Amino acid sequence: MREYKRVHSNDVTKAAKDALVRRGVKIEDIAKIVYEMQSPYNHGLTLEHCINSVERVMMKREVQHSILVGVELDELAEKKMLSYPLQALVEHDEGLFGVDETIALGSVLTYGSIALTTYGHLDKKKIGIIKKLDTKAGQKVHTFLDDLVGSIAACAASRIAHRMRDLEEEGETFKDIPPAELGPKGEDLPVDDE
Ligand code: MG
Repeated sequence: MREYKRVHSNDVTKAAKDALVRRGVKIEDIAKIVYEMQSPYNHGLTLEHCINSVERVMMKREVQHSILVGVELDELAEKKMLSYPLQALVEHDEGLFGVDETIALGSVLTYGSIALTTYGHLDKKKIGIIKKLDTKAGQKVHTFLDDLVGSIAACAASRIAHRMRDLEEEGETFKDIPPAELGPKGEDLPVDDE
């Protein structure tokens, strides 16, 4: 067997974050979707809480891997480097080509039914940056990216919904907790901690 030096988790985390930045998606853009989804139900929820929830989701290996696969395929399609007929299917976001949804769905499933229904809702409604990515004209290919963004937002929204229940049981609301408690408490947070 060929010798293989295992990739460090930090490299994967960084590559996934870099991929989103490179494709023009900011954490805050995703957090705005989360805020829109969850603020009607969560007293005291701020954009800051949502940013931290998105950051937490981005620490998950499952999510990072799907970002790397999806963005890579979008970029290769943009450079016309895929082979026929996959090139055409990805480049034109062919209606019946559902692999983009399937890849994004993988990480949604780890966050339970609220994530799943939110993901479905976002896929239909295309809120915020998802709409922008979906309607982008010109040479850009965002076939995978729009679904990935939807899945990250859905996971972050689900985390908030579940946290809300915990808070309620303690007689608290989001007003009572600092945003940082929802997100990574530092660079040393283990990947896949929940
Ligand atoms: Mg798509």
